[in-house]
Amino acid sequence: MTKKITIALAGNPNAGKTSLFNHLTGARAHVGNYPGVTVQKKEGRLQHDGYEIHVVDLPGTYSLTAYSLEELVARNFILEERPDVVVDVVDAANLDRNLYLALQFMEIGVPLVIALNMMDMAESIGLKIDLEKLKTLLGVEVVPTVARQGKGLDRLLDTVVRVAEADHEWRPKNIRYGPDLDLKIREISDLLMRSRFPTDKYPARWLAVKCLEGDQEVLNLVGRDEAVGRKIKTAVEELTRHLRATLDDEPEGIIADQRYGFIASVTKQAVTSEGDFRRTISDKIDLVLLNRLLGPIILLAILYSIYNLIFWISGAPVAWFEVFFTWLGGAATSIMPEGLLQSLVVSGLIDGVGGVIGFVPLIAFMFFAIAILEDSGYLARIAFIMDRILRTFGLHGNSVLALMIGGGIAGGCAVPGVLAARTLRDPKERLATIMVTPLMNCGAKLPVYAVLIAAFFARHEGRMLFLLTLISWSLALISARILRWTVLRGEHTPFVMELPPYRLPTFRGLLIHSWERVWEYIKKAGTIILAISVIIWALMTFPALPEDVVEDFQNQRSRAEQAFLAGPGGKILPDLEALHQFNEYYQLIQAQKIKKAGEDSQAEYHSLARAALGLAQEGPLCPELKAYYAPAQGYLNYRQRLQEIGAEEAGLALRRSLGGRLGLLLEKITRPLGFDWRTNIALVGGFAAKEVVISTLGTAYSLSETEEEASKSLAEKLASQPGWNPLTAFTLILFVMVYSPCVATLVVIVREAGWSWGLFAMLYTTVLAYLLTLATAQIGGVLGLGV
Ligand code: GDP
Ligand code: MG
Repeated sequence: MTKKITIALAGNPNAGKTSLFNHLTGARAHVGNYPGVTVQKKEGRLQHDGYEIHVVDLPGTYSLTAYSLEELVARNFILEERPDVVVDVVDAANLDRNLYLALQFMEIGVPLVIALNMMDMAESIGLKIDLEKLKTLLGVEVVPTVARQGKGLDRLLDTVVRVAEADHEWRPKNIRYGPDLDLKIREISDLLMRSRFPTDKYPARWLAVKCLEGDQEVLNLVGRDEAVGRKIKTAVEELTRHLRATLDDEPEGIIADQRYGFIASVTKQAVTSEGDFRRTISDKIDLVLLNRLLGPIILLAILYSIYNLIFWISGAPVAWFEVFFTWLGGAATSIMPEGLLQSLVVSGLIDGVGGVIGFVPLIAFMFFAIAILEDSGYLARIAFIMDRILRTFGLHGNSVLALMIGGGIAGGCAVPGVLAARTLRDPKERLATIMVTPLMNCGAKLPVYAVLIAAFFARHEGRMLFLLTLISWSLALISARILRWTVLRGEHTPFVMELPPYRLPTFRGLLIHSWERVWEYIKKAGTIILAISVIIWALMTFPALPEDVVEDFQNQRSRAEQAFLAGPGGKILPDLEALHQFNEYYQLIQAQKIKKAGEDSQAEYHSLARAALGLAQEGPLCPELKAYYAPAQGYLNYRQRLQEIGAEEAGLALRRSLGGRLGLLLEKITRPLGFDWRTNIALVGGFAAKEVVISTLGTAYSLSETEEEASKSLAEKLASQPGWNPLTAFTLILFVMVYSPCVATLVVIVREAGWSWGLFAMLYTTVLAYLLTLATAQIGGVLGLGV
């Protein structure tokens, strides 16, 4: 018994469909009309290899929208009649334009064979088409033909039979339509799948794309269920408004751009031309930006400039925030009575969370720069350029997107990064991508870097961030390579990155896109980070020092006072009351709140204070104050002693607290890295979210600071700490970059890849961080950098 196959012949007008049809079926054609419409339907039959093949000639179309009758007829035939195979006749000499239709068949998912026709024409105008590459990139069978001469028809029919004999499942191709559209597409297709819509007949994602394209036919179809129709309509309107505001375009326009972008990416890789062609502006720009040699150099140059520019622009506003929070801390200290509540507000909230909020300007400019790259279309090019490099390391072009979203350009977030790895079909490539995405420099690591860079590498801000970006990419690539050689060994799958034409971003669009992300950062700081900061403050405050210890410090203070009164200062300040009065006065003088002595009774205080100030600042000695120098020295010694006692008490309280004990315990492990117990607490807190590293250091140094330090920023405090130097700072930066993904990321990894991979992600990164920082600290120490 002969087997029967139905094929539909499709293609752009003048691609050679009729020629092919005639060669295939001879004169045995049956001509009629498609039911109900005046579009001609030609059918024929042929025998091949024991198969009876029924050929239906679809109307020639450029697309499959519902704008013209021909397109609608072609589309409905595919969906309603479900032919075994669609043969798309493609004009090889006009590949870009012709593949647009092919892509739409791929999006529906019908089994497809491309008859790459007019190969003689393509050759004569100097096009070289890499057929194998075209086939792998498209994921579709491609057979070269010259229909006019009947060349390649046997092979075409062999392929048709083979495809028809393979399973009949439709496999819709997913094109990426950008973050905004993809989100809505998923929303609508989920909605359709949940409703009783026959999504086995009409692929859900395809329907969703059509709804966004404003396809009236499909909108009517899904609108049969009124509730669903209404929800979809709102979703489409929402998106349309958002896209108009941000990209100044309709969904339809962006969808077409992305489709052509996909095709451009395919033909850029599979076709080389010798002749001189008409090129669009985008093509001309790509000629430079995607050049094998120039492309990566320009990419690095752009990144480097962005980093430098961002630090330069955000320098002043970040300083304003610093001034503001210092003022706020001072105000809170003076308004609130001393005690736990004051400590919570000043050390926990203002010095803790404030440190994270303070970097909003830096974050905002970074997001703005990323929005420019994204909206202009350059981000897609970065993925295209990186694909070549990534392949060498066993990753996939789609991995770039995950890595970029995760912070490939400093400032992303690993959570959507890990989710973006879903676009990878191959499970091993996907896992490798998920495992290395957290190594990127997410927006949460940024404030940590910023503080440490400001404290120790202030003159190399942009350069440092650039270096860190290179380091994290190198680590990710090397880790991926090792994973792909060992536990995740496997094939490399082909990749097509959509390369939509460049567009000029609108200012309003950039503002909206960057604000969306800045708001996320602020919200996180005001909720999660705030909550964790309070917990960590409590861990570093309780249990309080036992009373006898507090009393002991009190006694030390009294002894210092007695020592002062017994010295030469006792002649001017005879008793405790006078001493305390003078303390207040001296603080005012120090803060430059009193310029001249007011009353006569204070003339002596004034002279003493001026003498003390002069000595403290090592200024020139004034002869008329000579008599006051000995008492002033005594006073300074007394103050110095008080500060020492205070710092010792605060330090002891911090060490004896729960958090302090934990930090001290961990010192056994982290001593070779140069981290002390305070850093350890910060790193433990950083498991929850990396910003916490900064808020915790802020709180820790705030709790144990001396009076003078209260007016300093965290960066200034760190810079003046004896245990800190550029090497410690750099080591800490590396550790924060590499060690365990934060809890939110781990949760997503577990959800996407299972418990064991979540655990693995946590362990291997932490071990890697330890070894890397250990090596850095030791080598740096040998080189004498740690001073
Ligand atoms: P249709 O509009 O898709 O049905 O295309 P036709 O079959 O009518 O072909 C359009 C024109 O292209 C005709 O003049 C054909 O002779 C010519 N043609 C078809 N196939 C080929 C081919 O493979 N090479 C060349 N050079 N011309 C072809
Ligand atoms: Mg024709």
